[in-house]
Amino acid sequence: ATPTALMVGVGRGAQLGILVKGPDALEASRTVDTVVLDKTGTVTEGRMTLAETRAFGSFSSTEALRLAAAVEASSEHPIAAAIVAGGPEALPAAAQFEALPGLGARGVVEGTAVVVGRPKLLVGEGVSVGPEVEAEVASAEAGGATVVLVSKAGEVAGMLVVRDEVKPSARAAVTQLHRLGLKTVLLTGDNEATAQAVAAEVGIPEVLAGVLPSEKAAAVSALQRKGHRVAMVGDGVNDAPALATADLGLAVAEGTDLALRSADIILVRDDLSVLPDAIRLAQRTLRTIR
Ligand code: ADP
Ligand code: MG
Repeated sequence: ATPTALMVGVGRGAQLGILVKGPDALEASRTVDTVVLDKTGTVTEGRMTLAETRAFGSFSSTEALRLAAAVEASSEHPIAAAIVAGGPEALPAAAQFEALPGLGARGVVEGTAVVVGRPKLLVGEGVSVGPEVEAEVASAEAGGATVVLVSKAGEVAGMLVVRDEVKPSARAAVTQLHRLGLKTVLLTGDNEATAQAVAAEVGIPEVLAGVLPSEKAAAVSALQRKGHRVAMVGDGVNDAPALATADLGLAVAEGTDLALRSADIILVRDDLSVLPDAIRLAQRTLRTIR
């Protein structure tokens, strides 16, 4: 491919709302056969809202939410923002706050240990999660919601149901990718049931769920070792190493600085319909050149 023709491709991309960092990205996308999409903030809006709070045992839902919000006030996760926004205005301080990436967070509220995060986290912390709680969690997750549990002093206090809408452009973009002969995979730290529900909603046939932030790049490498040439689409800090590992990294425009820096291609509009455009653009450019 001649450099001049490749630069024409870069220019055409800009018109479509695709920022191509350099000719290398076009070259890389030529052989891509698999597109891995991050769930939160890429396939979904990434704007979480608190849909429901359930209390367990002797706790009230007001108290469960207050405890969760107190700890999440120190967290930067979109789930934390939803919980804080849904909680009371006046929150007690959380001491010894600790963020647990891909899991949740913990702190000490009014002298008692509070853990908030995915059910697995609480189980790992020795909190006993009984069948009643498990059933509630399973039914909310099957509907595509993300479920967060909060515990106080080792006892489950409540369940917070957080929702995130799928982007309106996602389903059509996935259909187009399949028409281009590309395989799609949904990659997420979220639980299997929620991930499957979102994947079904947008038509992605394969799901890699429960992947910790530190494991996302390894998940991309594993696909590459199976012989795939992988494009990774992501938005978050968590995705930066995976974007860099992929043969082609695409970041959505609203993504974090780090994700944008790690990507080869930036989708300028927050509209996934440009994703097949980005890949088609590269393939077309290179076909013209040959
Ligand atoms: P994703 O891959 O969807 O961007 P993350 O890897 O950031 O998700 O987080 C994975 C899961 O860990 C979330 O779905 C949630 O269950 C849990 N989690 C992470 N951070 C928090 C938090 N601050 N509060 C509650 N739950 C959290
Ligand atoms: Mg994310």
